[in-house]
Amino acid sequence: MLLILQSFGRIGLRGLMCALFQVLSFAVSANTTDVNLTGVSKSEQQAVLDYNDGPYIFITPQHLQAKSIRQGKVVTHVYPLNHINTSFAAEASEFKTAENIAAISDIHGQHKLFIQLLKAHHIIDHDDKWSFGAGHLVIVGDIFDRGPQVLDSLWFIFELEQQASAAGGKVHFLLGNHEYMVLLGDLRYLHANYRHTEKLLNQPYQALFNQETLLGRWLRSKSSVIKINDTLFVHGGISKALAERKLSLAEINNKFRQSLNLSRAEIKLNKQLAYLYASDGPIWYRGYFGDNKLQSNELNKILAQYQAKRVVVGHTSSNQVESHYSGKVLLVDSSIKKAESGEILLLNAEQTSRGLLSGKVKSL
Ligand code: ZN
Repeated sequence: MLLILQSFGRIGLRGLMCALFQVLSFAVSANTTDVNLTGVSKSEQQAVLDYNDGPYIFITPQHLQAKSIRQGKVVTHVYPLNHINTSFAAEASEFKTAENIAAISDIHGQHKLFIQLLKAHHIIDHDDKWSFGAGHLVIVGDIFDRGPQVLDSLWFIFELEQQASAAGGKVHFLLGNHEYMVLLGDLRYLHANYRHTEKLLNQPYQALFNQETLLGRWLRSKSSVIKINDTLFVHGGISKALAERKLSLAEINNKFRQSLNLSRAEIKLNKQLAYLYASDGPIWYRGYFGDNKLQSNELNKILAQYQAKRVVVGHTSSNQVESHYSGKVLLVDSSIKKAESGEILLLNAEQTSRGLLSGKVKSL
Protein backbone atom coordinates (compact mmCIF):
# COMPACT_ATOMS: atom_id res chain seq x y z
CA MET A 1 0.00 0.00 0.00
CA LEU A 2 2.67 2.45 1.05
CA LEU A 3 4.73 1.70 -2.04
CA ILE A 4 1.73 2.26 -4.23
CA LEU A 5 1.05 5.59 -2.51
CA GLN A 6 4.68 6.68 -2.64
CA SER A 7 4.92 5.85 -6.31
CA PHE A 8 2.58 8.75 -7.00
CA GLY A 9 5.27 11.15 -5.86
CA ARG A 10 4.21 14.74 -5.95
CA ILE A 11 0.51 14.40 -6.63
CA GLY A 12 -1.53 16.08 -3.89
CA LEU A 13 -3.21 13.68 -1.54
CA ARG A 14 -6.73 14.01 -2.88
CA GLY A 15 -5.34 13.55 -6.36
CA LEU A 16 -3.32 10.67 -5.05
CA MET A 17 -6.25 8.82 -3.52
CA CYS A 18 -8.26 9.47 -6.65
CA ALA A 19 -5.36 8.17 -8.67
CA LEU A 20 -5.09 5.12 -6.50
CA PHE A 21 -8.72 4.26 -6.96
CA GLN A 22 -9.49 5.57 -10.40
CA VAL A 23 -6.51 5.66 -12.70
CA LEU A 24 -4.77 2.42 -11.84
CA SER A 25 -5.29 -0.33 -14.31
CA PHE A 26 -6.41 -2.66 -11.52
CA ALA A 27 -9.99 -1.51 -11.99
CA VAL A 28 -12.07 -4.36 -13.34
CA SER A 29 -14.94 -2.12 -14.35
CA ALA A 30 -15.98 1.52 -14.30
CA ASN A 31 -19.12 3.52 -14.95
CA THR A 32 -20.49 7.02 -14.62
CA THR A 33 -24.01 7.78 -13.47
CA ASP A 34 -25.88 10.97 -14.33
CA VAL A 35 -27.85 12.56 -11.56
CA ASN A 36 -31.58 13.15 -11.67
CA LEU A 37 -32.03 16.85 -10.88
CA THR A 38 -35.77 17.18 -11.50
CA GLY A 39 -37.51 19.16 -8.80
CA VAL A 40 -34.27 20.82 -7.67
CA SER A 41 -33.89 24.65 -7.74
CA LYS A 42 -31.64 26.25 -10.39
CA SER A 43 -29.02 27.43 -7.90
CA GLU A 44 -28.90 24.03 -6.24
CA GLN A 45 -28.63 22.38 -9.68
CA GLN A 46 -25.57 24.52 -10.43
CA ALA A 47 -24.02 23.73 -7.03
CA VAL A 48 -24.48 20.03 -7.71
CA LEU A 49 -23.07 20.30 -11.25
CA ASP A 50 -19.91 21.95 -9.85
CA TYR A 51 -19.56 19.50 -6.99
CA ASN A 52 -16.64 17.11 -6.41
CA ASP A 53 -16.16 14.70 -3.50
CA GLY A 54 -14.72 11.29 -2.74
CA PRO A 55 -13.42 8.72 -3.13
CA TYR A 56 -15.54 6.68 -0.73
CA ILE A 57 -14.48 3.03 -0.75
CA PHE A 58 -17.15 0.37 -0.18
CA ILE A 59 -16.19 -3.21 0.68
CA THR A 60 -18.59 -5.76 -0.81
CA PRO A 61 -18.18 -9.57 -0.53
CA GLN A 62 -16.97 -9.67 -4.16
CA HIS A 63 -14.96 -6.49 -4.67
CA LEU A 64 -14.05 -2.96 -3.65
CA GLN A 65 -16.19 -0.19 -5.06
CA ALA A 66 -14.70 3.31 -5.18
CA LYS A 67 -17.29 6.04 -5.65
CA SER A 68 -16.34 9.63 -6.40
CA ILE A 69 -18.32 12.65 -7.48
CA ARG A 70 -16.87 14.60 -10.40
CA GLN A 71 -18.78 17.67 -11.59
CA GLY A 72 -21.97 16.33 -10.12
CA LYS A 73 -21.61 12.87 -11.68
CA VAL A 74 -20.98 9.71 -9.71
CA VAL A 75 -17.97 7.82 -11.03
CA THR A 76 -17.67 4.23 -9.82
CA HIS A 77 -14.64 2.00 -10.18
CA VAL A 78 -14.52 -1.62 -9.11
CA TYR A 79 -11.33 -3.27 -7.79
CA PRO A 80 -10.41 -6.74 -6.55
CA LEU A 81 -10.74 -7.19 -2.77
CA ASN A 82 -6.97 -7.53 -2.35
CA HIS A 83 -6.28 -4.16 -3.99
CA ILE A 84 -5.75 -2.51 -0.60
CA ASN A 85 -5.61 -3.65 3.02
CA THR A 86 -9.11 -3.41 4.48
CA SER A 87 -8.57 -4.60 8.05
CA PHE A 88 -7.08 -2.46 10.81
CA ALA A 89 -5.98 -3.71 14.22
CA ALA A 90 -7.32 -1.79 17.23
CA GLU A 91 -4.87 0.96 18.21
CA ALA A 92 -2.98 0.65 21.47
CA SER A 93 -3.66 2.94 24.45
CA GLU A 94 -0.18 3.61 25.86
CA PHE A 95 3.05 4.69 24.18
CA LYS A 96 6.55 5.75 25.14
CA THR A 97 8.79 8.02 23.15
CA ALA A 98 11.89 10.12 23.69
CA GLU A 99 10.99 12.19 20.67
CA ASN A 100 8.99 15.37 20.12
CA ILE A 101 5.22 15.35 20.40
CA ALA A 102 2.77 17.70 18.68
CA ALA A 103 -0.97 17.93 19.34
CA ILE A 104 -3.80 19.66 17.50
CA SER A 105 -7.59 19.28 17.61
CA ASP A 106 -10.98 20.37 16.34
CA ILE A 107 -10.05 20.78 12.68
CA HIS A 108 -13.74 20.57 11.67
CA GLY A 109 -13.30 20.60 7.91
CA GLN A 110 -10.73 23.44 7.83
CA HIS A 111 -8.18 21.31 6.04
CA LYS A 112 -6.08 24.21 4.69
CA LEU A 113 -5.38 25.62 8.16
CA PHE A 114 -4.57 22.12 9.38
CA ILE A 115 -1.97 21.73 6.62
CA GLN A 116 -0.58 25.25 7.15
CA LEU A 117 -0.02 24.61 10.86
CA LEU A 118 1.66 21.25 10.26
CA LYS A 119 3.91 22.83 7.62
CA ALA A 120 4.74 25.86 9.77
CA HIS A 121 6.09 23.51 12.45
CA HIS A 122 7.82 21.02 10.17
CA ILE A 123 5.50 18.13 10.94
CA ILE A 124 5.10 17.87 7.15
CA ASP A 125 7.25 19.20 4.32
CA HIS A 126 6.40 21.35 1.29
CA ASP A 127 4.90 18.32 -0.44
CA ASP A 128 2.61 17.60 2.53
CA LYS A 129 4.73 14.55 3.45
CA TRP A 130 5.74 13.53 6.98
CA SER A 131 8.91 15.34 8.09
CA PHE A 132 8.58 14.88 11.89
CA GLY A 133 10.93 11.89 11.96
CA ALA A 134 10.31 9.67 14.97
CA GLY A 135 8.00 12.29 16.53
CA HIS A 136 4.38 11.65 17.51
CA LEU A 137 1.52 13.77 16.17
CA VAL A 138 -1.70 13.54 18.17
CA ILE A 139 -4.95 14.70 16.57
CA VAL A 140 -7.17 15.12 19.61
CA GLY A 141 -10.52 14.56 17.88
CA ASP A 142 -13.14 16.39 15.80
CA ILE A 143 -12.03 16.15 12.20
CA PHE A 144 -15.70 15.74 11.22
CA ASP A 145 -18.55 18.28 10.92
CA ARG A 146 -18.99 22.05 10.53
CA GLY A 147 -16.54 22.73 7.66
CA PRO A 148 -16.41 21.60 4.00
CA GLN A 149 -13.13 19.65 3.78
CA VAL A 150 -13.58 16.71 6.11
CA LEU A 151 -12.74 14.00 3.59
CA ASP A 152 -9.53 15.78 2.59
CA SER A 153 -8.35 15.65 6.19
CA LEU A 154 -9.35 11.99 6.60
CA TRP A 155 -7.44 10.78 3.53
CA PHE A 156 -4.52 13.03 4.46
CA ILE A 157 -4.30 11.49 7.96
CA PHE A 158 -4.81 8.01 6.49
CA GLU A 159 -1.73 8.46 4.33
CA LEU A 160 0.31 10.47 6.84
CA GLU A 161 0.13 7.72 9.46
CA GLN A 162 1.78 5.31 7.04
CA GLN A 163 4.54 7.80 6.23
CA ALA A 164 5.07 8.45 9.95
CA SER A 165 5.34 4.72 10.74
CA ALA A 166 7.87 4.26 7.95
CA ALA A 167 9.99 7.02 9.54
CA GLY A 168 9.72 5.52 13.03
CA GLY A 169 7.15 8.13 14.11
CA LYS A 170 3.45 7.90 14.83
CA VAL A 171 0.17 9.65 14.05
CA HIS A 172 -2.55 9.17 16.68
CA PHE A 173 -6.01 10.14 15.49
CA LEU A 174 -8.23 10.15 18.59
CA LEU A 175 -11.97 10.14 18.07
CA GLY A 176 -13.92 13.12 19.42
CA ASN A 177 -17.63 13.65 19.96
CA HIS A 178 -18.13 14.64 16.31
CA GLU A 179 -16.57 11.41 15.04
CA TYR A 180 -18.99 9.44 17.23
CA MET A 181 -21.91 11.66 16.21
CA VAL A 182 -21.34 10.93 12.52
CA LEU A 183 -20.60 7.23 13.00
CA LEU A 184 -23.84 6.91 15.00
CA GLY A 185 -25.87 8.93 12.49
CA ASP A 186 -26.27 12.24 14.34
CA LEU A 187 -25.76 14.62 11.42
CA ARG A 188 -26.83 17.93 12.96
CA TYR A 189 -23.49 19.61 12.26
CA LEU A 190 -22.86 18.26 8.78
CA HIS A 191 -21.67 20.85 6.24
CA ALA A 192 -24.25 21.48 3.50
CA ASN A 193 -21.89 20.12 0.80
CA TYR A 194 -22.15 16.64 2.25
CA ARG A 195 -25.90 16.78 1.72
CA HIS A 196 -25.05 16.81 -2.00
CA THR A 197 -22.90 13.74 -1.43
CA GLU A 198 -25.77 11.96 0.33
CA LYS A 199 -28.11 12.81 -2.53
CA LEU A 200 -25.70 11.87 -5.30
CA LEU A 201 -24.57 8.61 -3.72
CA ASN A 202 -28.11 7.92 -2.55
CA GLN A 203 -26.98 6.99 0.94
CA PRO A 204 -27.16 8.64 4.34
CA TYR A 205 -23.79 10.22 5.23
CA GLN A 206 -23.08 7.80 8.08
CA ALA A 207 -23.33 4.88 5.62
CA LEU A 208 -20.21 6.25 3.89
CA PHE A 209 -18.33 5.38 7.10
CA ASN A 210 -20.00 2.12 8.15
CA GLN A 211 -18.28 -1.22 8.89
CA GLU A 212 -18.29 -2.12 5.20
CA THR A 213 -16.27 0.90 4.11
CA LEU A 214 -12.53 1.43 4.16
CA LEU A 215 -12.58 4.65 6.18
CA GLY A 216 -15.29 3.27 8.48
CA ARG A 217 -13.12 0.29 9.43
CA TRP A 218 -10.09 2.52 9.81
CA LEU A 219 -11.97 4.93 12.11
CA ARG A 220 -13.26 2.04 14.23
CA SER A 221 -9.66 0.98 14.94
CA LYS A 222 -8.90 4.34 16.60
CA SER A 223 -8.70 5.09 20.31
CA SER A 224 -10.38 7.90 22.24
CA VAL A 225 -7.92 8.25 25.10
CA ILE A 226 -4.20 7.48 25.08
CA LYS A 227 -1.14 8.09 27.22
CA ILE A 228 2.24 8.97 25.74
CA ASN A 229 4.97 8.91 28.39
CA ASP A 230 3.28 10.74 31.29
CA THR A 231 0.77 12.75 29.26
CA LEU A 232 -2.86 11.78 28.68
CA PHE A 233 -4.62 12.85 25.47
CA VAL A 234 -8.43 12.83 25.26
CA HIS A 235 -10.91 15.01 23.35
CA GLY A 236 -13.02 16.28 26.30
CA GLY A 237 -11.25 15.15 29.46
CA ILE A 238 -11.44 12.65 32.27
CA SER A 239 -14.02 13.68 34.85
CA LYS A 240 -14.21 12.66 38.49
CA ALA A 241 -17.25 10.50 37.65
CA LEU A 242 -15.38 8.63 34.93
CA ALA A 243 -12.28 8.18 37.11
CA GLU A 244 -14.45 6.68 39.86
CA ARG A 245 -15.31 3.82 37.49
CA LYS A 246 -11.64 2.75 37.73
CA LEU A 247 -11.38 1.77 34.09
CA SER A 248 -8.03 1.42 32.36
CA LEU A 249 -7.46 3.45 29.20
CA ALA A 250 -7.68 0.25 27.14
CA GLU A 251 -11.03 -0.56 28.77
CA ILE A 252 -12.41 2.88 27.91
CA ASN A 253 -11.23 2.50 24.29
CA ASN A 254 -12.68 -1.00 24.00
CA LYS A 255 -16.03 0.13 25.38
CA PHE A 256 -16.17 2.92 22.81
CA ARG A 257 -15.41 0.42 20.03
CA GLN A 258 -18.09 -1.88 21.37
CA SER A 259 -20.61 0.99 21.42
CA LEU A 260 -20.19 1.52 17.68
CA ASN A 261 -21.90 -1.81 17.06
CA LEU A 262 -25.08 -0.40 18.63
CA SER A 263 -27.57 2.30 17.70
CA ARG A 264 -27.81 5.56 19.63
CA ALA A 265 -31.03 4.34 21.26
CA GLU A 266 -29.36 1.08 22.33
CA ILE A 267 -26.38 2.94 23.79
CA LYS A 268 -28.72 5.16 25.85
CA LEU A 269 -30.25 2.06 27.43
CA ASN A 270 -26.92 0.31 28.05
CA LYS A 271 -25.58 1.12 31.54
CA GLN A 272 -22.15 -0.23 30.61
CA LEU A 273 -21.78 2.26 27.77
CA ALA A 274 -24.16 5.23 28.14
CA TYR A 275 -21.87 7.19 30.48
CA LEU A 276 -19.21 7.38 27.75
CA TYR A 277 -21.57 9.69 25.87
CA ALA A 278 -22.72 11.75 28.87
CA SER A 279 -21.74 15.39 29.37
CA ASP A 280 -19.05 14.24 31.82
CA GLY A 281 -17.90 11.43 29.52
CA PRO A 282 -14.43 11.63 27.90
CA ILE A 283 -15.57 13.04 24.54
CA TRP A 284 -17.98 15.72 25.87
CA TYR A 285 -16.48 16.83 29.22
CA ARG A 286 -15.67 20.53 29.68
CA GLY A 287 -15.15 20.49 33.45
CA TYR A 288 -11.55 21.71 33.46
CA PHE A 289 -12.73 25.18 32.44
CA GLY A 290 -15.26 27.81 33.48
CA ASP A 291 -16.74 28.96 36.77
CA ASN A 292 -17.55 25.57 38.24
CA LYS A 293 -14.39 23.86 37.15
CA LEU A 294 -12.92 20.82 38.81
CA GLN A 295 -10.94 21.44 42.01
CA SER A 296 -7.17 21.10 41.68
CA ASN A 297 -7.01 18.30 44.25
CA GLU A 298 -9.60 16.31 42.26
CA LEU A 299 -7.58 16.78 39.08
CA ASN A 300 -4.47 15.61 40.93
CA LYS A 301 -6.28 12.43 41.99
CA ILE A 302 -7.39 11.71 38.42
CA LEU A 303 -3.86 12.20 37.09
CA ALA A 304 -2.41 10.04 39.87
CA GLN A 305 -4.90 7.27 39.08
CA TYR A 306 -3.62 7.15 35.50
CA GLN A 307 -0.01 7.75 36.56
CA ALA A 308 0.06 10.88 34.43
CA LYS A 309 1.50 14.34 35.00
CA ARG A 310 -0.88 16.19 32.71
CA VAL A 311 -3.75 15.85 30.30
CA VAL A 312 -4.09 17.38 26.81
CA VAL A 313 -7.66 18.10 25.69
CA GLY A 314 -9.59 19.74 22.83
CA HIS A 315 -13.36 20.31 22.56
CA THR A 316 -13.54 23.53 24.64
CA SER A 317 -12.74 26.31 22.18
CA SER A 318 -10.25 29.05 22.92
CA ASN A 319 -8.27 31.46 20.75
CA GLN A 320 -4.96 29.75 21.38
CA VAL A 321 -3.30 26.74 22.95
CA GLU A 322 -3.55 27.27 26.71
CA SER A 323 -2.09 25.98 29.94
CA HIS A 324 -4.40 25.52 32.95
CA TYR A 325 -3.89 24.14 36.47
CA SER A 326 -0.17 25.08 36.35
CA GLY A 327 0.42 23.07 33.20
CA LYS A 328 -1.50 19.97 34.30
CA VAL A 329 -4.21 20.65 31.71
CA LEU A 330 -3.20 21.77 28.22
CA LEU A 331 -6.02 22.92 25.94
CA VAL A 332 -5.41 22.56 22.19
CA ASP A 333 -8.75 23.59 20.65
CA SER A 334 -7.58 26.91 19.20
CA SER A 335 -10.80 27.54 17.22
CA ILE A 336 -9.51 26.35 13.86
CA LYS A 337 -13.22 25.83 13.08
CA LYS A 338 -13.59 29.60 12.55
CA ALA A 339 -11.36 29.25 9.47
CA GLU A 340 -9.24 32.22 10.53
CA SER A 341 -6.26 30.98 12.51
CA GLY A 342 -5.07 28.24 14.83
CA GLU A 343 -2.24 26.81 16.87
CA ILE A 344 -0.52 23.52 17.59
CA LEU A 345 0.93 22.30 20.89
CA LEU A 346 4.60 21.29 20.84
CA LEU A 347 5.99 19.14 23.63
CA ASN A 348 9.32 17.63 24.47
CA ALA A 349 11.20 16.68 27.62
CA GLU A 350 12.43 20.25 28.14
CA GLN A 351 9.57 22.47 27.11
CA THR A 352 5.92 22.98 26.34
CA SER A 353 5.15 25.51 23.60
CA ARG A 354 2.47 27.05 21.43
CA GLY A 355 3.17 26.71 17.73
CA LEU A 356 1.65 29.69 15.89
CA LEU A 357 0.42 29.80 12.32
CA SER A 358 3.34 32.12 11.44
CA GLY A 359 5.78 29.40 12.46
CA LYS A 360 6.70 31.26 15.67
CA VAL A 361 7.04 29.18 18.82
CA LYS A 362 6.07 30.66 22.22
CA SER A 363 6.68 28.83 25.44
CA LEU A 364 3.61 28.10 27.55
ZN1 ZN B 1 -15.70 18.31 20.44
